[in-house]
Amino acid sequence: KKDALQGILKKKAVTRDGTEIELFANIELPEDSEQALANGANGVGLFRSEFLFLKEDDLPTEDEQFEAYKQVAQAMGKKPTIIRTIDLGKDKIPKWQEEVETPNPALGLTGIRLCLAEPQLFRTQLRALLRASAFGKIKLLIPMLSNVGEVKQIRKHLNEVAAQLKEEGVHFDQQIELGGMIEVPAAAVTVASFLAQLDFVSIGTNDLIQYTLAVDRNDDAVNHLYDPLHPAVISLLGHVIDTANRLEKPVSMCGEMAGDPALTRLLLGLGLRRFSMLPAQLLKVKQQVLTTDLSKIQPLIARMRDSYDTEELRELLGQLNG
Ligand code: PEP
Ligand code: MG
Repeated sequence: KKDALQGILKKKAVTRDGTEIELFANIELPEDSEQALANGANGVGLFRSEFLFLKEDDLPTEDEQFEAYKQVAQAMGKKPTIIRTIDLGKDKIPKWQEEVETPNPALGLTGIRLCLAEPQLFRTQLRALLRASAFGKIKLLIPMLSNVGEVKQIRKHLNEVAAQLKEEGVHFDQQIELGGMIEVPAAAVTVASFLAQLDFVSIGTNDLIQYTLAVDRNDDAVNHLYDPLHPAVISLLGHVIDTANRLEKPVSMCGEMAGDPALTRLLLGLGLRRFSMLPAQLLKVKQQVLTTDLSKIQPLIARMRDSYDTEELRELLGQLNG
């Protein structure tokens, strides 16, 4: 079976009826880019930069960060490298943050909230990212956005850091793209307002599902309620993808749903054209793309979008994959 998949490594991910799909890799450390390339990724769709901050007791310096981002950008060459700014808090707490008391970490100072509360931390990372952008095709991705006011603050920091670097005579990509993660239900519902301020969005289904259903997947008492096929989740995904497609702005998905071959057809049917996943999933998902006829699945997809019954949705998904 593994050999069969190796046979499609060099093939483009194109549906039977000719729609090209982009498959990107999620990585956690710069050296993971090798695995991404070995599995035929079209680029890095999510570099979880916070792993650089979890490795050691001290914060990585600007130069250490720069080297890590540059390494990925160079390894990927002309292929896009989407680097997410640090997404700490919640399940990823570095040593220097351990003593901070938070009543409810999942609803606390996570992702971009922490960065906006600690501008020095954020601006150091932005400097490192901009400097590295001279060495490849880096794009920035912001986690945990919940209101568009945050995007305005981010742009201000980004513009100021860019002006500084320019003054210092440092080369960087002055057109660097800024994207946002859609992983808080509020951002999903109002995605049009985010798309007006951003170059692209990427759907983080891991958090979007947890916040939509109010279920912590790591809590054994409730994790049976964590369900990507909940009608509310399907409805939100459909809304985000439809809105981005209508506004002609790129939308991708980098949560685990994107790497589950059992869900590839459903996501294609909802209009998703860019997927980002663990490198080990890339060929399995490509295989699904290659065997899907978008025009043929439309009637089933329409029924799934209309269904408010999870059991029926499961039954329809079975037919879709059958
Ligand atoms: C997500 O929430 O789907 C996501 C990709 O981010 P993380 O899993 O790192 O929270
Ligand atoms: Mg997330």
